[in-house]
Parts: sequence; structure tokens; C-alpha cells
Amino acid sequence: MSDVTVIGLGEMGSALAGAFLRGGHRVTVWNRTAAKAEQLIDQGAVLAPSAAAAFAGSSVIILCVSDYAATRAIVESENVAEVVAGRSLVQLSTGTPKEARDLAAWSQIHGTEYLDGGILAWPSHIGGPETLIYVSGAQAGFARHEALLKTLAGGLTYLGEAVSASATMSAAVLSYLAGRWIGICHGALICEAEGVSAASFGEALAALSPALAGDSRHMGVVIETRRYGQPESTLKTAGDDIARLVRHAGDANISAEWPTFAAGLFRRAIDAGHGTEEHAALIKVLRKAALPTGIAP
Ligand code: NAP
Repeated sequence: MSDVTVIGLGEMGSALAGAFLRGGHRVTVWNRTAAKAEQLIDQGAVLAPSAAAAFAGSSVIILCVSDYAATRAIVESENVAEVVAGRSLVQLSTGTPKEARDLAAWSQIHGTEYLDGGILAWPSHIGGPETLIYVSGAQAGFARHEALLKTLAGGLTYLGEAVSASATMSAAVLSYLAGRWIGICHGALICEAEGVSAASFGEALAALSPALAGDSRHMGVVIETRRYGQPESTLKTAGDDIARLVRHAGDANISAEWPTFAAGLFRRAIDAGHGTEEHAALIKVLRKAALPTGIAP
């Protein structure tokens, strides 16, 4: 028996298996495309001949494949269901909260302990002292595997018994990153059009990071407490600034897609009477646009 099995040897799964090996663990690996295991075998990993053999190789199985559909294809493949009982499954593939709950239900039916995780790091950061991985699910299971999982991420964080909590946090962070990535690309377009170095723009954003960390915390509290009434800068001021980006895109003959979308959302919030409130009041128009959920704006 190995200490841990890693199933899925793409960019991330390979990094996870490599970190376990560097941490001195005995590691069994399996990947649909077996050739991707070669480097890990050189480092001491044992390649299982099938998914079922990989499950049988350790009491803790880490899954890190493209998504939950790929996970399902593996756990529902030949003979796997017969060997999963009594083992611990740690799903580190990215998925939705519902997918996490569904896989937890599948695990319960098959007598398998289930923890769901979300990796908020690049493969090269795996094993780092501050690397962030969220885990949720049964506390007793987390306590038993905490030391092993810390090999992957010094910033390993337990989010509680609700198994979908990690997928929820990953989805929320990804939403933030999506806006940030598009914003950086549009900002770089502005720089290119005006003859300013995109690298110096990156440096400017890095210098702003501490202030933006404070802003993230502030917005979270404002939204949770629904206290939008004491802005340092109003939603209208931000909306006017973003509308100016649309004008600049026309002047500079660059794409206006991103500022047009952002300015449209701010415009709707201003028109709905939220112009004197915090930026975070933008969530009110998003709540109204959503399917009915019973959440008060
Ligand atoms: P990747 O390099 O594209 O690897 C995908 C893996 O999934 C491969 O091992 C692939 O096997 C396997 N796979 C896909 N479909 C399969 C199926 N039907 N049956 C069996 N295996 C299947 O992706 P990755 O970057 O390692 O990402 C893996 C997970 O980590 C994803 O959920 C991703 O969101 C998450 N993640 C990645 C990063 C990152 O920076 N890379 C960061 C955070 C989270 P084959 O080799 O046979 O194709």
C-alpha cells in the first residue's frame, strides 16, 4: 500500500504527485494516458495498471482531472465501485457546488469518505508555504488527512462540514479573477494605444495590491451587512469613470467590449437610484437580474 494515490496527471495532478514524492510519501499514480506518468515513476511513484488498481493502492485517493464529468468517468469505470468502500476520496478537480454534493452522495452510497477541495494556485506553487487549497466535508476526515494535504499547500484551509463550500469559494474567486483578467487585458490595450509600457502597468497593479486587499475585505463586509450608505467614492463616480473608458476606446480605436459591458451595469445601478451608495451596491441590480432566489436586495 502507498500513502496516497493521485489520479489525473495533467499539469496540476502531476504537480500534486510531485509534491507528495518530495514530501517523502509513497505515491501510487494513474492517468488515462499512461505516458504522462514517466517522470513521476523516475522520481519513485508507482504506476497502477488501471483506475481500480490505483484506488486499491492507497487508503487516500486524490482526484485531479479536468472536471467532475471526467471524475465520474473514472469512478464509474470497470471494477472501481468494488474497491472504493472504506477509502477516502479527496476531489481536487474544479467543479460546481452541486457537482460536489452529487459526488458526495455517490461516495456515501459506496461507503467512501469524501472531501471536496478547490485549488487556488498554479501548479508551480504546489507545495509552497502559502499555497491555498480549500477543503470541505466531514471534519473527522479532514483532521485525519490534514497533515498529508498540508504537503500540497501550507495555506490549506478547512471551510467546514458543508461539502460544497470549497467549490463555492473557488467559483466566487474565479468570478473575481475573470473580471481581473479581462480588466488587465483591456488596461494593457489602453497602454499599448497610448505608448505606455504594459510591464509598467503590471508593476502599478502590483503596487496597488495592498490597497485592493483592503477593498476586497471592505466590499465583502458591506455586501454581507447590506450597509451601502457611507461611500468614500460613490457608485456614480465610478460609473462616470468607467463610461469615460468607452469614450477613450473610441478615441484610441481599440475594443470597447469590456468598458461597454461594465459601464452598462453601472448605468443600470445609477438609473435604479443607487448612485450615491458604495460600489458594492452594484450587486443590487445583479440580484434583481437573477432568477428568483428569495434573497433581499
Ligand atoms: P490538464 O493538464 O488539462 O489535465 C487534465 C487531466 O484530466 C488529465 O490527466 C486528463 O487525462 C484527465 N482527463 C480528462 N478527461 C478524462 C476522462 N474522461 N477520463 C479520464 N481522465 C480524464 O488540466 P490540469 O491543469 O491538470 O487541471 C486539472 C484540474 O485542476 C482542473 O479541474 C483544473 O480546474 C484544476 N486546477 C488547475 C489549475 C492549473 O493552473 N492548472 C489551477 C487550479 C485548479 P489525459 O492525460 O489522459 O488526457
